Amino acid sequence: MVLKLRLCSSTAPSSFKALQVDGHFSFFQNEFAARDFGNQFHFLPSAVLHPKSVSDIATTIRHVWQIGPGSELTVAARGHGHSLQGQAQAPQGIVINMESLKGQEMQVHMGLYPYVDVSAGKLWIDILQECLKFGLAPKSWTDYLHLTVGGTLSNAGISGQAFRHGPQISNVNQLEVVTGKGEVVICSEEQNADLFHGVLGGLGQFGIITRAQISLEPAPKMVKWIRVLYSDFDTFAKDQEHLIYVENTFDYIEGLVIMNKTGLIHNWRSSFNPQDPVKASRFVSDGRTLFCLELAKNFNPENAEKTDQETETLLSQLDYIPSTLFVSQVSYVEFLDRVHSAEQKLRSRGLWDLPHPWLNLLVPKSKMHNFAQVVFGNILRDTSNGPVLVYPMNKSRWDNRTSVVLPEEDIFYMVAFLPHAIPSPTENDGLQYLLSLNNRILDFCKMANLGVKQYLPFYTTQQEWREHFGSQWEDFARRKSAYDPLAILAPGQRIFRKAI
Ligand code: FAD
Repeated sequence: MVLKLRLCSSTAPSSFKALQVDGHFSFFQNEFAARDFGNQFHFLPSAVLHPKSVSDIATTIRHVWQIGPGSELTVAARGHGHSLQGQAQAPQGIVINMESLKGQEMQVHMGLYPYVDVSAGKLWIDILQECLKFGLAPKSWTDYLHLTVGGTLSNAGISGQAFRHGPQISNVNQLEVVTGKGEVVICSEEQNADLFHGVLGGLGQFGIITRAQISLEPAPKMVKWIRVLYSDFDTFAKDQEHLIYVENTFDYIEGLVIMNKTGLIHNWRSSFNPQDPVKASRFVSDGRTLFCLELAKNFNPENAEKTDQETETLLSQLDYIPSTLFVSQVSYVEFLDRVHSAEQKLRSRGLWDLPHPWLNLLVPKSKMHNFAQVVFGNILRDTSNGPVLVYPMNKSRWDNRTSVVLPEEDIFYMVAFLPHAIPSPTENDGLQYLLSLNNRILDFCKMANLGVKQYLPFYTTQQEWREHFGSQWEDFARRKSAYDPLAILAPGQRIFRKAI
């Protein structure tokens, strides 16, 4: 059931008006803080803090801490508001607009192990642009860069580089965090390590990240971007799994499930060139379910020839449909920021601000065949709304001390269903229909005992959260009592309720 509730803004506690902050509180016209990308949950806060300094955030949380149990007041950090089910909202509480901290300067540190020190309200696209001035870039990305550092580090931050570098949370040296008691704490592997690991993938439960030091590498100038097609899931998956281990492999490995599409290759032609145009023109997608392997190899113009050779060697090891090799060459920024171009197109057609009933699952490798047969072959057969991403990752690149929850096996797949709901739906693209598909997928995973874990998890009861965390629950709850004992932070995750 979708909860679509708009609570009236109550009069904000007058005590906030008297707090001394460098930024300011706004008590009216805070509708933006009751919206997110999911566009299904809308809870108005009592006030929004637009902080100018870390001490603004600490002062605000300390104030709520001092008010004590007895009050329902909670605090949510809001990054870029790209949550899906109200996770960055605080019903009648205080929302902290983290992007207003972003005026603080980013500092790139060169040397053997370069890193950038950034405010957690910064967007990844801005970090990329700044680091490129020094010929450097972060190593691990999300597919979309208009998300904040604090928002993605609270989940994991995954894209096609994760098989090599791990998620974004595996590429952080140090954090500055304001805990649920209003204490400002610096943490890293060496210092306050329990808080450091807890906050990474911690769904905002233990503290608000205010700064992060992110590990960097030399940035390439160009990317060779490749797409090939398969008609059979097992061959597609075999090749993906081969590529995540082979030497000199691609720098980015993802995949897409393509359902009910005709004229597919014709559409690609605006940005991808077929290797063999004659054969490619004979290929007809014809509504069949296809699997598209998407690859990228980074390079600098002076190494173009070597990159071509390496790419050819890698491609010769794969079993894709030969006529479906498509290649494009773009700048590194164009490649990393590719979803933003899609965003602009969708915005121009009024399709960006619709409800997004997305579902992201991490599926153990040994269960993928069964999952693909039932979900792609049966449950999703009559829909073609939004991309479905599928790509493997290896657990060895993740740190098991963080809060993130993964399937049991060493290799697992990210499967992301990313539809948007049409306002005047036909039979199979309305919100209720899409939510019912998600439920069918989740029910199947449960019934077949696949050991699937949700990424960007959404549950409404603590029992479901306990099941999600499994053996990690005790540690998660212990960290909550240590760092946010009144359960003030991130109420929109619905894991803990503030005692009143
Ligand atoms: P918000 O939605 O503002 O916040 C998310 C959660 O984090 C909330 O609980 C909030 O309270 C908490 N939070 C925010 N800032 C802080 C902070 N500084 N300290 C502590 N807690 C904080 N994810 C991937 O991993 N890979 C992808 O490729 C990817 N692509 C995406 C593409 C799109 C178009 C969208 C909408 C989302 C995508 N996501 C992806 C999911 C995205 O990473 C998460 O939704 C992320 O939380 C959004 O970041 P945000 O800055 O908008 O956070």
